[in-house]
Amino acid sequence: MRVIPYLLVALVVLLLAVLWRHTRPVSVYQTSATPATLTVNAQTRLLIIAPHPDDEVLAAGGLIQQLRAADGVLHVVYLTDGEGYPQGVKAEHRRKKLTDVDYRSYGHQREDEARRVIRELGYGAWSQTFLGFPNGGLHRLMTAYWSDRQRAFRSKYTRLNRPPSSDVFISDTLYRGEDLSQELAEIIGAFKPTMILVPRQEDQHVDHCAAWFFVADALVSVRRVHPQFQTDLVTYIVHYNSWPFDDLVADLPPPDDLDPGVSGWLRVPLTADEVNTKRKALHLYKSQMDVMDWFLDGFVRTNEVFSRPASQSVALPVSKNVCDEFIER
Ligand SMILES: [Zn+2]
Repeated sequence: MRVIPYLLVALVVLLLAVLWRHTRPVSVYQTSATPATLTVNAQTRLLIIAPHPDDEVLAAGGLIQQLRAADGVLHVVYLTDGEGYPQGVKAEHRRKKLTDVDYRSYGHQREDEARRVIRELGYGAWSQTFLGFPNGGLHRLMTAYWSDRQRAFRSKYTRLNRPPSSDVFISDTLYRGEDLSQELAEIIGAFKPTMILVPRQEDQHVDHCAAWFFVADALVSVRRVHPQFQTDLVTYIVHYNSWPFDDLVADLPPPDDLDPGVSGWLRVPLTADEVNTKRKALHLYKSQMDVMDWFLDGFVRTNEVFSRPASQSVALPVSKNVCDEFIER
């Protein structure tokens, strides 16, 4: 029977194919061929922590639309107005010498844009809180400017050392770390989110990295007052090496050298309509599109990517500030 040698060859080829599939190099953190999906429903109370206006739509412009469709509740907290961005302020005012007033008005402009963006995604201004902390300074509040034993931090851009009084929940709030942590604890304790989205600590923008630490610290305070409080803490990433431009495909793959945490990477697949609405909402951040449209558009893909942190144990202030390595020099 001449067919037997062919069968043997076919079997060997099949065996080699299986072996190659299981031995080829893969991402160090790849845990599953099919990442899990992050879903929301009518019971979801979603709190998004955005260090700057635009982070909410970059990370979760599609998820917000799915939350709206499911009749869930949204709250977005902007830690800063994104006012400390000289390149952006120069583009708006078209002059080299900038004043503290220019930076403050740029922050107000970004707040107005954020209101239009959230309206485009189906929610109203009641879903937004602007805390008015200093752009580019949050990481300093984790160490040197933590408590009232030191003077408060002063922004080199706006010359302010406190948020506008209209933005504070606790009176006498200054640019101090413990004040920001208490404001966040107050918001979380009142809103009782079932899910919190926050940048992960590896995000290479100092404000994003610091946001993770402040939220983790605030959660410790919340659980002290509300011991039964449970929430699904989910992280997103915006700034990380050349990501998300490693693969210029419609899909958004996760960075392949980051730990996907306890649940593996979480995907949110978007419909064509959701992608279009995300793009439309994002383009309402005109002040940002003017200076970095190529970067922002890189987040308009057919899915969004999240993960759950491996550990949440954080206690501020810290003696060694890991966010310092992301200071732009
Ligand atoms: Zn940001």
